[in-house]
Amino acid sequence: MKALFLEKQKTLSIKEVNTPIETNDNVLIDIEVTGIGGSEYLGFNNPGIRSLPNIMGHSICGTTENGTRVAVYPLLSCNKCNYCKNNQSQLCDNWSLIGVQSNGGFAQKVLVPNKSLIEIPNGLSWEQSAFIEPFANSINAWEISKATNEDNIAIIGAGSLGLGIVTCANNINCKNINIIDLSDNRLASAKQLGATKVTKNFNDNLQFDIVFDTVGSIESRNLAISITKKNAKCIFLGFEAPIQNINFSELIRYQKQLIGSFVYTKEQFKKAMKLVQNCDNKWVKNLSFLEVEEQLNKYLEKDFSTIKAVLRPNK
Ligand SMILES: [Zn+2]
Repeated sequence: MKALFLEKQKTLSIKEVNTPIETNDNVLIDIEVTGIGGSEYLGFNNPGIRSLPNIMGHSICGTTENGTRVAVYPLLSCNKCNYCKNNQSQLCDNWSLIGVQSNGGFAQKVLVPNKSLIEIPNGLSWEQSAFIEPFANSINAWEISKATNEDNIAIIGAGSLGLGIVTCANNINCKNINIIDLSDNRLASAKQLGATKVTKNFNDNLQFDIVFDTVGSIESRNLAISITKKNAKCIFLGFEAPIQNINFSELIRYQKQLIGSFVYTKEQFKKAMKLVQNCDNKWVKNLSFLEVEEQLNKYLEKDFSTIKAVLRPNK
């Protein structure tokens, strides 16, 4: 099979490798679509915890040998620690992610545990299924926020994570769903999913009940904190800047609550399958192996005009 390896920082190579062999516990998936998102371009820029060479890609959908259409729940957890026992597998003491600590979906096939497979409902296109994994992230953030439909919501970034949060908010008929992004494409898709206000610039005086930062840059986090009301919540999903200065006096004085949100449980992943039904096939840019590197470089150059880029390794 063909696979795309991250060899070192900013270096990918396409190689022909042996197809993995199925075992009692592991199934071989013919990959239809692998999402290319923040984890991949940040990994491309800085491999970090990845052991190289690494086949990246943790947002994977495809078919089993018997033709069942499946999405891969990519989080591997121990099922033994207190977090796992408490249905918080994303906080597992021994977690790992398919496509990060092990080989993932930038390949024609991938071997994954039986228990990681979730059947994709009939009627969902492969393009729509590319939103399952990012939307599962959005569901975790949304549930952490405990938002109600009376809350005035702000979302920074209209990539797949932001679109997922719009969908969660629209699902409970939120009256005020505000989203900011620099891309017209992305803002139009947010509108289509139910955002009530889309903008390229939040006025400094605006204050919101709940703010989601899906970008994770220094600028987006500062904006998120500044537009969070007193005594309100600000939820962070984006990973871009690992460390930054925060004005703690402001947090303390205004009792702002800063909360992190990391991936999803299997239940949230299943819920995402229902939420992606309104995603438009046209939002997805299908790429071949040869086109992935160019897309990752575009992201690094802050060109986020593509709504969702995916690898179609067998197309
Ligand atoms: Zn665990």
